Amino acid sequence: MASKRFSRIELLQHVFPELTTVELQALDAAAQEQTYAPGAILCRQGEIGRRLFIISEGEAEIFVNTDESQMVLVKNVGSTDYFGEMALINDAPRAATVRTISRCKTLEIDREAFVSTIDHNPALLRAIVRQISNHLRNNDRIIIRELRKKNQALNVAYNNLSSQEKLRTDFIATLSHELRTPLTSAQGFLHLINRGTMQGDAQKVALETVTRNVEKMVGLINNLLVLYEMHLTSPKYSDVSLETIVQEAIREARTMADARIIPIEFVQQDELPMLRGDRNGLLLAIRSLIENALKFNQDNGLVVVNLYLIDENTAGLDIIDQGIGIPPEAQKHIFEPFYRVEGSGPDRLFSGLGVGLAISKFIVEQHKGQIIVESMPGEGSTFTIRLPFSASG
Ligand code: ADP
Repeated sequence: MASKRFSRIELLQHVFPELTTVELQALDAAAQEQTYAPGAILCRQGEIGRRLFIISEGEAEIFVNTDESQMVLVKNVGSTDYFGEMALINDAPRAATVRTISRCKTLEIDREAFVSTIDHNPALLRAIVRQISNHLRNNDRIIIRELRKKNQALNVAYNNLSSQEKLRTDFIATLSHELRTPLTSAQGFLHLINRGTMQGDAQKVALETVTRNVEKMVGLINNLLVLYEMHLTSPKYSDVSLETIVQEAIREARTMADARIIPIEFVQQDELPMLRGDRNGLLLAIRSLIENALKFNQDNGLVVVNLYLIDENTAGLDIIDQGIGIPPEAQKHIFEPFYRVEGSGPDRLFSGLGVGLAISKFIVEQHKGQIIVESMPGEGSTFTIRLPFSASG
């Protein structure tokens, strides 16, 4: 849509609505028209301005340099907008840089031409000074509003950064804690064995504890390696039985279940077809969920693993516990790497680095599946995996 063309007098009237026709004509005699190609700089921040610009056609953008490298766009201007009015009355440096976006036509008044016009017309000077100060006040308001908006955006970015930083320091605290505890214990036992203090059965028990601690540390490091390498390694797809994988995951979690005296009940409701999937990946994803269901359960609790058909193309697997549950506001974060509901404080109750769910989610999504959680604090959690039988590799 073609925009309206304004005459020179109309443009001047738009900028100086308080002037009489005679005053406008005097100003018109001092004005000249210019045409600029797209990308032309009309004025540059910091340079001393000696000219008022009124845009008659086209669009330009106003930038402010916040430092050497950053240009912040303040606003776009177009037909009848004007800038540089201070240049008519003093030698102030330009407060911004103005660059044309499209071909621009302007009406411009030089300081020299302006000064000789007002020499014959003092009322014109008074009117213009009044107007310019009003206009500057308005401009200040617009710029302050823009700065407020930018400030809010900066605050959001800063908060994001500090929560990432918190996650990072929490992770280091958690990792040191998770490694120091089994290492110190293993070191203590090995010391006693080396001094010959432990013999016979006692030595056997001590060595078993050392082995368990070393396995725990290897498990932690393996999980970290899986998290960092999972984007790099490609899964090995074959036809697998989900039922067999679930049973194996339960078997692998058995030691933990026995230690906590929590039974795992496996219910398979439907016969399932073979699934195209990465056996090791699925085993890891499911075992992590079962281990969490045991870890966050209550004493005398129960874990139910429920395998069923959602429809002919999709398997469903629920892992249900009666544990501490997950607060609603934490549910959207638990699949993020290193996120833990209880953080990393010294009085934390549960071990773990906060990587298990991130790994499970990645693997399930790699199989074009989904993982969701339903949970009530104090009542327990249900993690559900949906897996298509034939979507992968
Ligand atoms: P980790 O268990 O090693 O801390 P995860 O990534 O497996 O890490 O889990 C992240 C967090 O989600 C846990 O720290 C815990 O706060 C919460 N969570 C996961 N599973 C459960 C569950 N079954 N019951 C209660 N909270 C859970």
